[in-house]
Amino acid sequence: MTVDATEFRAAMSRLGASVSLITTDGPAGRGGMTASSVCSVTDQPPTLLVCINRNASTYRAVRRNLAVCVNILAPRHVDLSRRFSTAQLSAEQKWSGVEWKTLATGAPALADAAVSLDCRVSMVKHMGTHGVFFCEVVDVSFSATTEGLIYFDRAYHPITGWAGQAVAEY
Ligand SMILES: Cc1cc2nc3c(=O)[nH]c(=O)nc-3n(C[C@H](O)[C@H](O)[C@H](O)COP(=O)(O)OP(=O)(O)OC[C@H]3O[C@@H](n4cnc5c(N)ncnc54)[C@H](O)[C@@H]3O)c2cc1C
Repeated sequence: MTVDATEFRAAMSRLGASVSLITTDGPAGRGGMTASSVCSVTDQPPTLLVCINRNASTYRAVRRNLAVCVNILAPRHVDLSRRFSTAQLSAEQKWSGVEWKTLATGAPALADAAVSLDCRVSMVKHMGTHGVFFCEVVDVSFSATTEGLIYFDRAYHPITGWAGQAVAEY
């Protein structure tokens, strides 16, 4: 039995995931895109992974800059997430009207992200259409947000930080 790409994507639509804005800057210039394939790997050294389509311009920029900032989004960032996942928009349309800052690597950090993890790329592996970037976290910036943004069933969903209640109710 084989599973084709359409069926696999349908299955993955039920894997709810936090939404991040991946940014980079350096010799290859600035780049940024929406990503949900972000995953913690280990805390020694603090490392996460990001999977990026090798056809995306952000892939080429991250590959050369070897720096990436993972900005984890809150519900107020849905419009920003849509902008950074739309291929036809100009750089001006994507980046304007947003407050950016920089942390250790110089990659743009979203000023009001739930949390920004600034990273240097330590390893890249290819799997099919995607590059898997292992990224060592070198700086972190938190905001006061207690809400998260989840992509599930091909739609955005807000979640609120009500620790404890989740286990009690389900
Ligand atoms: C909630 C959500 C989560 C997402 N998570 C991820 C994720 O984890 N990883 C990921 O890779 N994407 C993810 N995407 C998609 C990603 O945000 C978009 O593809 C985005 O447009 C990439 O921006 P870019 O400017 O880097 O790429 P662009 O350069 O705008 O390219 C976007 C896409 O267009 C196509 N394309 C562009 N140039 C070429 C070319 N020369 N030849 C063939 N095809 C081409 C490719 O499919 C490419 O991926 C996600 C989107 C959403 C909405």
